[in-house]
Amino acid sequence: MTRYIFITGGVVSSLGKGLASAALGALLQARGYRVRLCKLDPYLNVDPGTMSPFQHGEVYVTDDGAETDLDLGHYERFTGVPARARDNTTAGQMYLSVLQKERRGDYLGATIQVIPHITNEIKSFMAEKDSTADFVLVEVGGTVGDIESLPFLEAIRQFGNELGPQRSLYIHVTLLPYISTAGELKTKPTQHSVKELMSVGIRPSILLCRADRAIEEEERRKIALFCNLDVENVIPALDVSTIYEVPLTYHREGLDRQVMAHFGIRDIPNLDLSIWERIVKRIKDPEGEVKIAIVGKYTNLADSYKSLNEALVHGGIANNVKVRLKFIESEIFEREGTAPHLEDVHGILVPGGFGERGTEGKIRAVQFARENKVPYFGICFGMQMAVIEAARNLCGLKGASSTEFGPCSEPVVGLMTEWVKGNALESRQEEADKGGTMRLGSYPALLGKGSLAAQAYGAQAIQERHRHRYEVNITYKDQLEKAGLLFSGLSPDGKLPEIVERTDHPWFLGVQFHPELKSKPFEPHPLFTAFIGAALKQSRLV
Ligand code: GLN
Repeated sequence: MTRYIFITGGVVSSLGKGLASAALGALLQARGYRVRLCKLDPYLNVDPGTMSPFQHGEVYVTDDGAETDLDLGHYERFTGVPARARDNTTAGQMYLSVLQKERRGDYLGATIQVIPHITNEIKSFMAEKDSTADFVLVEVGGTVGDIESLPFLEAIRQFGNELGPQRSLYIHVTLLPYISTAGELKTKPTQHSVKELMSVGIRPSILLCRADRAIEEEERRKIALFCNLDVENVIPALDVSTIYEVPLTYHREGLDRQVMAHFGIRDIPNLDLSIWERIVKRIKDPEGEVKIAIVGKYTNLADSYKSLNEALVHGGIANNVKVRLKFIESEIFEREGTAPHLEDVHGILVPGGFGERGTEGKIRAVQFARENKVPYFGICFGMQMAVIEAARNLCGLKGASSTEFGPCSEPVVGLMTEWVKGNALESRQEEADKGGTMRLGSYPALLGKGSLAAQAYGAQAIQERHRHRYEVNITYKDQLEKAGLLFSGLSPDGKLPEIVERTDHPWFLGVQFHPELKSKPFEPHPLFTAFIGAALKQSRLV
């Protein structure tokens, strides 16, 4: 029997509903259950793929090639369950699909309305989830009270009602702001938020109350009284120093126990959470520290590199060191040079990116890493920059560039117009739609024997997730290899370069895919483990 837990948010956005859902997922797994997490996003974009990282943060890519909300990254990092395309939907997707059906004539002349057509579409999205899952956790994006959320709230109300209370549970995440002049945490916004939810017919059974300090019993009682709840179901969710502590603190406050109680399932005393205890201990009590420069364009919004930041933390866990990140806006190198900013770091990472702005600075960062033998990790765009740098500075191809920035005399990185997907050929034209048309999702690559990459993976064949439109031009392979840039990973047909590395450098690697998407705290990605390991060695040299 699959049970559904719906998670909504109130008072303000950014309360960490995604993390809360992911942590609850992990706690249910610790109790031996199979979980599936999914997210309903109320905005009208069909997916976040075309949204600016400044607006939406990172775009998380699934194995099956969907561009999804970054909360799916949290779900996967906490539960290890690979996210799928159908674990995230948006109002845009729901409307698009209803309107396509309307055009096809599927509704046989009916008047198409938000209720029931859009809500039914949302309900069938939820109903088709993993039938093998014991619990499906459905997070509703946005904040209760938003106009956009209404069809989603109506859909979870109807769906929960159809399932009945034995198979459904509503959890509401709220905020208790601290008012310094009064010297207390305020419960009123939470009361109002619950009222708002009740006005659309949803009565939450558990409240997760975010606060920056301890919530007094008195306040919990007050909330319980006004929101029709048992005081045990008013659960404090205090700020923590690392996100991996969230499962432990929620458990301590009784979240999973109360979830079990709601469903009438017997509690397990002394739940084994040692996996999370070990992770938190490693993070809080490291043996050393390395400093990594992230040279990018979206550096002032931490959410744009969410998975990357986490994968670096995981690399630190694997090496028992703290990873200190130094975000550098690449354009600064074009004005001030690299040395003053990069001299003190133990590793340089150029992450994924789009568009020409800031690329000259990124290329300079690659040059600095190569010449000064500082460990370099180029991810997607960062690999393309490494190839352009070698072409220009080592092969004498002054006009080397990417056609992403316009026509050039030496297109060492060019638009991909066809590639093999499974047994079929995918092709794209220059003027294709921008949404959902990149080379997306999991693709295999074969690694060169004895290469740095093969050593790190301890394997010859790998599968990694991609999100790119341009690709290193294989026709430059021989020239670049002569200059010491080895093509150590290729697509199985040998046409698409997947990994490059330097043979004359302690650790210099560029990958066309996004390894950060698959890293987990309990299973750090081998390339991040190796990169932080190399940075640790570097830190002992300087
Ligand atoms: N802009 C580059 C491309 O489309 C790199 C993309 C990325 O870094 N994800 O190929």
